[in-house]
Amino acid sequence: MKCHQCQTEMVRDCNVTVEGGMYGIKISKKRKGLFNKVSAKTKAAVCSSCGYVALYIDEYNDFRE
Ligand SMILES: [Zn+2]
Repeated sequence: MKCHQCQTEMVRDCNVTVEGGMYGIKISKKRKGLFNKVSAKTKAAVCSSCGYVALYIDEYNDFRE
């Protein structure tokens, strides 16, 4: 995963939490069918060169329609 700003390799697997709590951010989506809801915990990648932060999930395949 490369930084969008400066193309440096980003540091993945950083935790995303809400300040003042232990809560992370979850992405979810309703779907049709047997497994009618998908959700994923948001992670962050940080660029150690310019400070750019990108959010991503590992379970992106589950969101495919
Ligand atoms: Zn960068």
